[in-house]
Amino acid sequence: MVRAIVGANWGDEGKGKITDMLGKESDIIVRFQGGSNAGHTIINDYGKFALHLLPSGVFYGHTTSVIGNGVALNIPYLFNEINELVSRGVPKPKILVSDRAQILMPYHIAFDAYEEERLGGKSFGSTKSGIAPFYSDKYAKIGFQVSELFAPEDVLKEKVERVVAMKNVLLEHLYHKPLLDPEDIYNTLLEYKEMVEPYVCDVSLFLHQAIKEGKNILLEGQLGSLKDPDHGIYPMVTSSSTLAAYGAIGAGIPPYEIKNITTVVKAYSSAVGAGAFVSEIFGEEADELRKRGGDAGEFGATTGRPRRMGWFDAVATRYGCRIQGATEVALTVLDVLGYLDEIPICVGYEINGEVTKDFPTTTKLEIAKPVWKTLPGWKCDIRGIKNYDELPKECKDYIDAIEAEIGVPITMVSNGPGRDEIIKRK
Ligand code: GDP
Repeated sequence: MVRAIVGANWGDEGKGKITDMLGKESDIIVRFQGGSNAGHTIINDYGKFALHLLPSGVFYGHTTSVIGNGVALNIPYLFNEINELVSRGVPKPKILVSDRAQILMPYHIAFDAYEEERLGGKSFGSTKSGIAPFYSDKYAKIGFQVSELFAPEDVLKEKVERVVAMKNVLLEHLYHKPLLDPEDIYNTLLEYKEMVEPYVCDVSLFLHQAIKEGKNILLEGQLGSLKDPDHGIYPMVTSSSTLAAYGAIGAGIPPYEIKNITTVVKAYSSAVGAGAFVSEIFGEEADELRKRGGDAGEFGATTGRPRRMGWFDAVATRYGCRIQGATEVALTVLDVLGYLDEIPICVGYEINGEVTKDFPTTTKLEIAKPVWKTLPGWKCDIRGIKNYDELPKECKDYIDAIEAEIGVPITMVSNGPGRDEIIKRK
């Protein structure tokens, strides 16, 4: 059975924790999109980890961790992450890397920074991990696929020359930065070849076989619905699809095999980077929620920068669940809200005097005003509770209200960052 774990919001919903938890019953865990630009925070028996490229199920001895073809593969980063785990006592994970994955090159990272610098105040707030330049190259057909590392020397060298010629025009005339040397790039590729060779695999074929054998496969998404380049808040989005549907492409499996789409929804909102954020809050109210949020405050796992904060946005989340094709929802970080007397949720958007519950395109989103509904808080700490019935009434009412708004069953409620801090509901 294939199950996708994806986010309904702007990312940082707690997908890592849910994947780590569900990894126990899984054989294979696959990253199918994105790169090292967003992090998952995992807290388990080995300690606290920020994973960026490895799937969150990497801590179990029985799972195989797969980097699918849809991923932006930063090879040194992957190996640093593996080494860090091993040095902290985690058993050496079993890793497979798709022969169709493309390689994120050091110049992608440089171009990302140069472009942000060029845009100045109008920048996208990129994590400068090279993701946008990487995917641009992939679709411009000037990226390097892992399989190309094994091409004859003259073929690879010729491609390097061709790519470098294009890059150098931009470096010289647009960015006014040092030029690339084809020899250096070729040598980097040879280094990468040596590093990655033992792990390279026809992942699609491997997964095809695993599906036939009835193995449990998890597809782990990065970021959330609203950062999808097609269905999100374009252009303030990421550069690869964050949707479960893309799991089929980014892993190389048939779409109909994805039977369960576990969509992770956060009990309040947070976002990084620029872009419209209708339920955003500011000042002390935001500082308080940011300080209390997540396991150690709402600060980026990759960049450490403070996340933008907001109350739960039912309009965005309902859309986020719909576009994911959510079959069930895991509601996370509910424990964080225990300090509030009252909890506002955004139940509609007012756009040009009209109230809608349908999430609009970006131009309209920019002028949308939140329509609030206020629910009573439960004013206590719900961490440690294991049975749904033991939750305070106001807390259950909050969950019911969210479920009614999003129209998808909430089957799991997460009341703490730890692997076992989960309440099964239905
Ligand atoms: P991901 O990118 O979706 O995996 O999310 P992140 O790891 O960036 O952010 C989620 C943050 O919330 C992490 O710091 C987690 O440890 C933390 N977290 C996850 N679930 C819960 C929860 O139920 N309660 C609390 N307090 N923290 C949680």
